[in-house]
Amino acid sequence: MTIQERAYSNFTSPFPAGLQLPLVPLAPIDQPPAIFIDRDGVINQNRKEHVLSWDQFEFINGSKRALALLNTAGYRVIIITNQAQIDRGLLKAAQLDELHQRMIDEIEAAGGRVAAVYYCPHRPEANCYCRKPKPGLLLNAAEKLHLDLDSSWFIGDHLTDVEAGLAAGCKPLLVLTGRGEIAAAQWKLSQEVENSGAAWPALTATSTSLATKAAAATGFQLPIKADLLEAVEFVLAADQSKLV
Ligand SMILES: [Zn+2]
Repeated sequence: MTIQERAYSNFTSPFPAGLQLPLVPLAPIDQPPAIFIDRDGVINQNRKEHVLSWDQFEFINGSKRALALLNTAGYRVIIITNQAQIDRGLLKAAQLDELHQRMIDEIEAAGGRVAAVYYCPHRPEANCYCRKPKPGLLLNAAEKLHLDLDSSWFIGDHLTDVEAGLAAGCKPLLVLTGRGEIAAAQWKLSQEVENSGAAWPALTATSTSLATKAAAATGFQLPIKADLLEAVEFVLAADQSKLV
């Protein structure tokens, strides 16, 4: 049993009999709201040659502030990232861990918190279960950290993030930083093709998976926001409106 589990399951009052604690049943107590966030292109600037060292890690304007807002609002932040450069031998796992620790230190210094970083080290051709658009990383995190996927969001800049979010049963949200402009155009095209009833052109077949087609078919409305800060403000407002 982890510390987290113990904290929530062993709920006998340490106070003298007769002293009542207020009950605030806003959400299942063992399943706090979670926000999954893609790393490159959402928290930090995307680099075509990948981020291989700390001096290549550049926070996107407003992303640290967005993470601080989430922390203040009680959300648990889990970073979900494909890092195939591990298997390609461009980066050692220990170096990636160190880079993530420095990232977390800066986020914490700005008032944010990161509950965990989950990454896939595999190359696309490994066909693993964890590389986005597959939902393995999200499902692992949900199981280990006792997260409720239905009420969780996944903020990313690529359709693989949207698809992983849909596949895991959480709410995807696209930002226009990083590769987001291209992803938004692909999404729009998917919806137009689906609505037109025409056959899917070969052009989109490579960049658009079944999950995107299925979502387009159901008329799913993907929220698209300028950047992480705007995305977080949207999430906070959307979730707040459900509580009242
Ligand atoms: Zn993997």
